Amino acid sequence: MGIIEENKKLEELDKKYIWHPFTQMKDWLEEKPIIISEGRDCFIKDIYGRWYLDGVSSLWVNIFGHRKKEIDDAIKEQLDRIAHSTLLGLSNAPAIKLAEKLIQIVQKSLGRNKETNPPLPPFSKGGLGGLCKVFYSDNGSTAVEVAIKMAFQYWRHKGVEARHTFVSLTNAYHGDTIGAVSVGGIDIFHKAFEPLLFKTYKAPSPYCYRCELNKEYPDCNFACLEKMEEIFKAHSEEIAALIIEPLVQAAGGMITSPPKYLRGVRELCTKYNILMIADEVATGFGRTGKMFACEHEDVVPDIICLSKGITGGYMPLAVTLCTDEIYNAFLGEFKDLKTFFHGHSYTGNPLACAAALACLDVFEQEHVLEGLKAKIELLEVWLKEVLNINHIGDVRSTGLMAGVELVRDKKTKEPYDWSDKMGWRVAYRARENGVFIRPLGNVIVIMPPLSISEQNLKRLLDIIRVAIIDIT
Ligand code: PMP
Repeated sequence: MGIIEENKKLEELDKKYIWHPFTQMKDWLEEKPIIISEGRDCFIKDIYGRWYLDGVSSLWVNIFGHRKKEIDDAIKEQLDRIAHSTLLGLSNAPAIKLAEKLIQIVQKSLGRNKETNPPLPPFSKGGLGGLCKVFYSDNGSTAVEVAIKMAFQYWRHKGVEARHTFVSLTNAYHGDTIGAVSVGGIDIFHKAFEPLLFKTYKAPSPYCYRCELNKEYPDCNFACLEKMEEIFKAHSEEIAALIIEPLVQAAGGMITSPPKYLRGVRELCTKYNILMIADEVATGFGRTGKMFACEHEDVVPDIICLSKGITGGYMPLAVTLCTDEIYNAFLGEFKDLKTFFHGHSYTGNPLACAAALACLDVFEQEHVLEGLKAKIELLEVWLKEVLNINHIGDVRSTGLMAGVELVRDKKTKEPYDWSDKMGWRVAYRARENGVFIRPLGNVIVIMPPLSISEQNLKRLLDIIRVAIIDIT
């Protein structure tokens, strides 16, 4: 079979057999699929040899580009030893080394601002920067499920059975499993599953451009935090934890919270003795310009969820880190059934842990965070400039995570209809010019690998700007 026939066959078989995630398959079946065969640096190549600049880091996971030698080598080396063995009743060296490394990094990043962090709630005496236990799973949603179950059962072990519910935010996204959807707040994705979900209280999203309380920042004096406090005040006896995406509600449309908002959330959780779960699945590992988003506001959560960038975008891996206080509550006699009955087949997979270890080494060896400053500035300058474009209503960014919100009418902020597929049309146009991006409704998402060169970043932004102008 010649290469052309082989490619056609792949396209046919894809349509015949694969159900793609978050994809209207009727549309997909009418389109020519892009099938990726290779990647290098920040580029991905399709089966016809066309290269695309990867503007969304292969769905926000890729940090150092494709075929990063250090990570390639680490996986190959591990492959010569063992690909997988279980953490249920056994351990393995990469999982142990990675756990130690993660705790060191988290302590360095989140543990040093002891003076500025408020005292932890009476039930949470783990100590500041006290995130010191690692629970492995394999994707962001499971990291969140683990956090939810841990928080819930923590209170039961403490004899506080009434704390069975959670507070999350509107516009929140924490994954697609049922627990994660229960704490989600994006109607388009989550509404259909409502009858299946457990009860949560929803605090307002800090979405200043479209404030659900009809206030203007900064005159609002954080009315959204006041609403959160009202919920806490009325229901603290039944709330196990609050879960939040620190600084950026990513899948909700790259919604960036104003300075000091996150800090305010931490203070409220402390005041009302509610555990704080930081879902840094999207924001972790340098995305916001610091290792973790919480670091920007000197916030130490009680539980943190990490995934995506942890392996540099190579292997599925996630961790849920918690304090000693939470971990200790699960200790007991075998017969007491205090065990955390949760675990996945690929928990602590050695290949994934080896990739993550190599990835964390690259952060140190290449001084990755220091190298981001110029690129973040370039992105911020570009965002300010494009805000002048007629149908761009708002631009938002933190570090190398950005969203450009398209509107039908800039004055009234009238959005385009979902059915206009405006974000998609811009993405398709960019694709014709060699850039791969994936929008969130009317929000154009810009989230390139951290390692992107300034030259390629400029190229990416140029192509996106032209695509927006052309289409709108
Ligand atoms: N939490 C956040 C903040 C996310 O952005 C995502 C994924 N976009 C998830 C959880 C779920 O991660 P996964 O897709 O790996 O299950």
